[in-house]
Amino acid sequence: MRRQIIAGNWKMHTTRAEAIVLTEAIKQALASYDGEREVVLCPPFTSLSAVADLVGDTAIGVGAQNMHYESAGAFTGEVSPLMLTDIGCEYVILGHSERRQYFGETDVLINKKLQAAFANAIMPILCVGESLAQREAGETLSFIKAQLTAGLTQITAAQVSNMVIAYEPIWAIGTGKTATAAQAEEVCKAIRQTVAALYDTATAEAVRIQYGGSVKGSNAADILSQANIDGALVGGASLKSEDFVAIING
Ligand code: PGA
Repeated sequence: MRRQIIAGNWKMHTTRAEAIVLTEAIKQALASYDGEREVVLCPPFTSLSAVADLVGDTAIGVGAQNMHYESAGAFTGEVSPLMLTDIGCEYVILGHSERRQYFGETDVLINKKLQAAFANAIMPILCVGESLAQREAGETLSFIKAQLTAGLTQITAAQVSNMVIAYEPIWAIGTGKTATAAQAEEVCKAIRQTVAALYDTATAEAVRIQYGGSVKGSNAADILSQANIDGALVGGASLKSEDFVAIING
């Protein structure tokens, strides 16, 4: 049985003070949560340490939204995996479409980061997803398969079993246009089949696949009830504790 995982991607939002208020509210709302779903908060780098300290005594995990693949070096402006584990950060979002689109991240670079995450015992959440043009051209499944295959280069079956893949159609991110549960399930199923083809059935059954893109309290239950969807990567709705908690309870 795969344990579902709900991660909040706060993107470039929250000052340190706001992050603390939001974390406290989520913590309080989940005080008697049974832990059926794994919960992860991904604040900006500047609040990671504060958030990690606040949830240290709870089951809530903390993730970064990006990282460099080297442990240290002359890479001005970058943050290393070692720096993340040092402050209690256990997860990292890699290859988000905003990183690919605005910061030129390629499959090759993202793959290096994925390898670095495993080398540092950080659980990666690898994002894949098609554009609207690709969907309309009927290229969704072939594109996702290629993106995933490139992203997983040199990653072992044991590692894939211990990671999260997030399917985030670019046209559904921050647009209010959620993929229907059937559309999300179709691609998440294809992702699992791709993992089975690249590795084996046991690995495909173990890997957790999230859907992301305008997930909110009102659509979470439908999306999370799909056979191949094991959680959600939540942007906008993760910035309000009541919305985020509604998804966790959804
Ligand atoms: P959204 O973002 O929930 O605001 O659409 C999702 C994401 O980019 O991870």
